[in-house]
Amino acid sequence: MGSAAAYFLARSGQAGSITVIEPDPTYAAATTPQGAGGIRQQFSLPENIAMSGFSLDFYKSFARQVSDIPDVPDINFREQGYLLVVTENGEKILRHNQQLQSAMGARAELVDYAEIRRRFPSIQRNDIVLGCHTPDDGWIDPSAALWGFRRAATHLGVTHERAGVTAINTTDTAVTSARLDTGEVVEADFFINTAGPWAASVAGMTGAHLPVVPMCRVQHFWKCSRELEPLPLVTKTKAACSFALKGPVLPVDVPVLI
Ligand SMILES: Cc1cc2nc3c(=O)[nH]c(=O)nc-3n(C[C@H](O)[C@H](O)[C@H](O)COP(=O)(O)OP(=O)(O)OC[C@H]3O[C@@H](n4cnc5c(N)ncnc54)[C@H](O)[C@@H]3O)c2cc1C
Repeated sequence: MGSAAAYFLARSGQAGSITVIEPDPTYAAATTPQGAGGIRQQFSLPENIAMSGFSLDFYKSFARQVSDIPDVPDINFREQGYLLVVTENGEKILRHNQQLQSAMGARAELVDYAEIRRRFPSIQRNDIVLGCHTPDDGWIDPSAALWGFRRAATHLGVTHERAGVTAINTTDTAVTSARLDTGEVVEADFFINTAGPWAASVAGMTGAHLPVVPMCRVQHFWKCSRELEPLPLVTKTKAACSFALKGPVLPVDVPVLI
């Protein structure tokens, strides 16, 4: 988020000098390189659907967006869609969400189990009563996107400073400066908190309570014993469990089993 925000600000031509403060330039502990990179329009809140619509258009045209910048990695967008599936209890909410997504311009198709089997014969769960397929969704390589944003932001004049924020000075209404673990104090007109799972602790330095808590999410990778058709990213609502086919390796994100 830090390098992406810096990129968009620099690209706007409206910002002054921009610095990203990041304690670990390898991003070893950051979330982004460890994510699955899925981009879906299947949300229940209009704000999330709108943000995802923007992201989808942007990532689909990423290479063109940064075509004036050398050495930006390929983010490897895979337009294989998303498929949310529900058992009987989830049918009403899936229908409601699909209507909202369609009304907001997303191509979101309700598919019954027979149609799911026709499109994706490998999916065999007869407790599935309904699915919502968004064929325009997909996934990217999140690590390549991170380095792409960082590279593009740097090219546009953004500096990255290796340091962590340890304290923040404020007035009643604004942040005025941040103290870094190098001892330096950075003053600026605007500060953006993009510390991801650490965002609440950074916000806490201003006395603010930000209801953002880190969640444990795990990806498992394995090889399939046989070839599967090109599957979408399949997920079951409320189960926080999904799988996608990525080349010969299948990652599955499994806090709870379907
Ligand atoms: C297994 C898994 C699968 C996921 N799958 C998806 C998916 O399919 N689709 C999707 O959209 N999302 C997915 N996510 C979530 C997504 O990866 C994250 O929401 C996103 O990467 C968060 O980015 P971020 O920049 O906010 O946080 P991060 O990438 O964690 O970056 C935060 C940065 O803040 C820095 N920092 C921390 N403290 C300080 C400080 N005091 N001062 C300065 N810097 C500091 C850290 O060093 C770090 O680099 C997944 C996550 C996981 C773990």
